[in-house]
Amino acid sequence: MFEIREDRFRRREMADRLKIAFATAASGGLGLGAAWLAAGTTGATIYAGAAFYALFKERRISAKTREIYTNGSFLINQFEEVAENAGRMAEKVKIKPPPVFYSEHLMTPDNACTDGVNVIMGLNYAQNPTALETLTTLAHEIGHIKNRDSERNHILHAFELATYNSATVLLIGSFAAGPEEMRPILGFVWAMPVLGIGHHLLQKTVRKLQEFRADRLGVRISNCPLDMAMDLYNSPSTYPNSESCTLLQKFIRPHPPDSHRIKAIVQICKRVPDPVSGP
Ligand SMILES: [Zn+2]
Repeated sequence: MFEIREDRFRRREMADRLKIAFATAASGGLGLGAAWLAAGTTGATIYAGAAFYALFKERRISAKTREIYTNGSFLINQFEEVAENAGRMAEKVKIKPPPVFYSEHLMTPDNACTDGVNVIMGLNYAQNPTALETLTTLAHEIGHIKNRDSERNHILHAFELATYNSATVLLIGSFAAGPEEMRPILGFVWAMPVLGIGHHLLQKTVRKLQEFRADRLGVRISNCPLDMAMDLYNSPSTYPNSESCTLLQKFIRPHPPDSHRIKAIVQICKRVPDPVSGP
């Protein structure tokens, strides 16, 4: 069974546009107004130029996503067992069954992700569609969909754009004020890295909580805590454990290390003596 659902891509594209519009209105409006107040028409014009460029870039990324979705490299619901499992688990948490895609565009063939509507799995999962590892990975992604993690990340992204735009306004304002008024430039110089690091830490904390929460929900709806732990243990992940990483690598990676997730899942096993007939 090989099916490409054109209507789904259209709906997804519309949803993407709405999110971009929201991010643009929140950050662009704030930035444009502040640029005009700080540096008059010139500031507002420079700002509008930068905003249009950013929007153009976003649109190109959106077009690229559409291309990936429609050029056939994604196979939707190719395996009946996987589609059935997805439907059954989605029903348990009362969400619409997510279409399952297989893609060669993920970081590794053992990766899987979700955009909040669809589940996208690496090609290794297509080789083993009935394996329990495939089931538990699917359960984890369904956990993300149920928890509305993609939506939360979009809001965080819009918030990030808004903070950067405000910092840019500081810089424009300082140029307009002239060379004798250097304070805003100095403010900009230290504000940017502080904002960047602060936002990264916020995102990292949120992502970490999201992963643990999706694991917990995944264990509940798949009833296979040990297989979920084994999948994390067996697949050559991009972030296996925290001991093998430098401090900088630990800081950069948004995901928690697999070893921490395995520990958390094992804790769930201890609370559920018989996972097969568990809750
Ligand atoms: Zn995840």
